[in-house]
Amino acid sequence: MSAALSLETFQAQAAGLTYRSQAFINGKYVPSASGKTFDNINPATGKVLNQVASGDKEDVDRAVKAARAAFEKGTWANMAPSDRKKILIRFADLIDQHNSELALLETLDMGKPIRDSSKIDIPLSAQCIRWYAEAIDKLYDEIAPTGPEAISLIRREPVGVVAAVVPWNFPLLMASWKIGPALAAGNSFILKPAEQSPLTAIRIAELAAEAGIPEGVFNVVPGYGETAGQALGRHMDVDCVAFTGSAEVGKFFLRYAGESNMKRVSLECGGKTPNIIMADCPDVDAAATAAAWGIFFNQGEVCNAGSRLIVEESIKDQVLEKVFAVGKKLQPGDPLDPKTGMGAMVDKTQMERVLGYIEKGKSEGASLVFGGKRARDETGGYYIEPTVFDRVENKMTIAQEEIFGPVLSTITFKTPEEAVKIGNDTIYGLAAAVWTRDITKAFKTARALRAGVVWVNCFDNGHISSPFGGFKQSGFGRDKSIHALEKFTDLKAIWIALRD
Ligand code: NDP
Repeated sequence: MSAALSLETFQAQAAGLTYRSQAFINGKYVPSASGKTFDNINPATGKVLNQVASGDKEDVDRAVKAARAAFEKGTWANMAPSDRKKILIRFADLIDQHNSELALLETLDMGKPIRDSSKIDIPLSAQCIRWYAEAIDKLYDEIAPTGPEAISLIRREPVGVVAAVVPWNFPLLMASWKIGPALAAGNSFILKPAEQSPLTAIRIAELAAEAGIPEGVFNVVPGYGETAGQALGRHMDVDCVAFTGSAEVGKFFLRYAGESNMKRVSLECGGKTPNIIMADCPDVDAAATAAAWGIFFNQGEVCNAGSRLIVEESIKDQVLEKVFAVGKKLQPGDPLDPKTGMGAMVDKTQMERVLGYIEKGKSEGASLVFGGKRARDETGGYYIEPTVFDRVENKMTIAQEEIFGPVLSTITFKTPEEAVKIGNDTIYGLAAAVWTRDITKAFKTARALRAGVVWVNCFDNGHISSPFGGFKQSGFGRDKSIHALEKFTDLKAIWIALRD
């Protein structure tokens, strides 16, 4: 995105876009078997963008059949890893080359600022696929330390047909965290995007084919969770479901697996991240700025959003002052405006849900000290002001439940032990952060926090080489890093007797 691009340029580009709207099965776009479609809404305006094929059981059956046939044919699964690598790198390159189009689709579909779609979502999606492509021809299998009479080869083999069911907050990026490792490992793949944000998933199917991914290996079935999502979860011929979404729906997938073929399930679910700022933090301004971005970025629709600011009492006012200053600059704007830092909530339901939590916070006795209202109503879109509560008690609903909106709860503490206790006191364990200049305190706190990722003196930093995923009801299984390959492969021991 060049600095010269303006709101008007993006509006003109958006007006000229064409939308792919069908399922992609066995290398072709196809309508849903029932012919049904659903309205795909632009959350910045509340208006319909296009009609999207509404996949159901029959569409899932077709996709699974195509994926299974492709897996058994073996063109992809048995291809030399160095050749899969070349094709996946081409796929990543094509995603990069279509950055402008894909970023526009993402922004129109889910309301996030265009500067985030074009500089974060799309490049990181390509980077992720490229990273697994580059990795896959550098991994070795193992030989067990048996005695001299045998050799046991321990191989990692693709599980077969993988289904990914993903949410709407980072539509292409969350999908790429599954696509990269699953395809690199040689699986066939079926992607079910969230019904609020199907456009990039549908569009990249064509790019996958253009890159050379064989027919049936990469399929996309848009549709509702209760229909298409459930059909994948219950399908007898799906070997693995990689899910990202709420803990509530994650539990459905465990049930679907138990009631069908015991397929492998990995769950990346919600969070209620404690961001602990101690009084001896090395840079209070930096910590407060990170705390603000940690909850307002992506309209707060982030699984690891730092929704609980757990701050040592003596520096609370100083921290909040800076959080308000960042909040003032981040007032919601048109997502297509490159100056906008906070866009629209994904849909009306989510906006109302978040406003409901704000009311709940007030009624349970927390002090609303910043924002708290709907914004830009005149646009017809679904915007909420950056919002801060002070004097929150950790047992309050807004401190316990995942709001998935730009709402910060401020809780104070007096000792590091108290901070850890509060930090761990939710059902979630996705991420946590601690700010202190004392290395011993930092390490002891990081070790005591029950979370899959703990940041020290930073917030939401990461790299594709570092694993991401949760403890407790934030799920299990890891995205990113070499560890992500574990959920898309099975271990096979080939025992060879060494007879003379
Ligand atoms: P949901 O759990 O509602 O939906 C996630 C996906 O599951 C969607 O594709 C949805 O389809 C589908 N789904 C919904 N109901 C069912 C069902 N009964 N059976 C099968 N599939 C179903 O989450 P959201 O999309 O609302 O996303 C927000 C959630 O995602 C938050 O809790 C957030 O924390 C979590 N998340 C976790 C991340 C992580 O890495 N840990 C990253 C990003 C988000 P549809 O919507 O089309 O009906």
